[in-house]
Amino acid sequence: VRVVATIPEVRQFRRTRGGSLGLVPTMGYLHRGHRSLVERARAENDAVAASLFVNPLQFGPQEDLANYPRDFERDRSTLEEAGCDLLFAPTPAELYPPGFQAVVELPKVAARLEGERRPGHFRGVATVVLKLLNIVGPTRAYFGEKDAQQLQVIRTLVRDLDVPTQVVGCPIVREPDGLALSSRNVYLNEKERGAAPVLHRALRAAEALYRGGERSAEALRAAMRATLEAEPLAQTDYVAVTDPETFDELESIGGPAQLVLAARLGKARLIDALRLP
Ligand code: AMP
Repeated sequence: VRVVATIPEVRQFRRTRGGSLGLVPTMGYLHRGHRSLVERARAENDAVAASLFVNPLQFGPQEDLANYPRDFERDRSTLEEAGCDLLFAPTPAELYPPGFQAVVELPKVAARLEGERRPGHFRGVATVVLKLLNIVGPTRAYFGEKDAQQLQVIRTLVRDLDVPTQVVGCPIVREPDGLALSSRNVYLNEKERGAAPVLHRALRAAEALYRGGERSAEALRAAMRATLEAEPLAQTDYVAVTDPETFDELESIGGPAQLVLAARLGKARLIDALRLP
């Protein structure tokens, strides 16, 4: 994998490598979830680029920017093994030089849930993703369905601003006990790690009701809430049963529905998602 830190080097790579290019944007500390995105990109494109950037713009003042886990050498070799051709690892000053000021105005889908709990977060995500797409010029860009609302924000952004990249959503990679892989799982102590699959269990409880014929969204939300509340180490942030396009809360489930939830376990704030049917 070729490692570059500047925008001109990325543009140069794009100019000299013809054919299709897949981009996998990440904040590093890569795990099998990221790896599955790179492998998908590898299978669908002539070349694959990944970006590694812990984006200060998407962290709130009380959030974990300074402590966000990092291991550049391990990430580099993970990408090498996964068949990645280019790793773009810019400094904050490369993406946000003095005078930087333009940011993306968000679509409505960003307003609730993560958008409400993390003011400025989606504006930072949308701005950096738009920059990365403009810098790299990929044919396709790969994002995980774990960050379901983020994925929909990006789909809307790319559609509304005519970005010539195809957005590809990828399935959530989980531990054997159901916990969705996340760089933030390293914040969990042993007890919290043992309790963390409760997020997935809550989603599964709602899914089981749905499969049994329940179509009241409130019944599904209640099942998720009850499952989370039964775990003393978890503090529920939100549970939601939403329209997958708008992320508006549903009352009754007539078509597809997106289940999302967020909970705190100790220092970690974890999110998870499940799509119905
Ligand atoms: P992050 O480095 O956490 O910003 O994640 C980079 C990309 O990887 C995002 O599109 C995430 O949705 C995706 N991702 C993170 N965890 C997983 C997972 N467990 N399974 C699939 N994709 C994931």
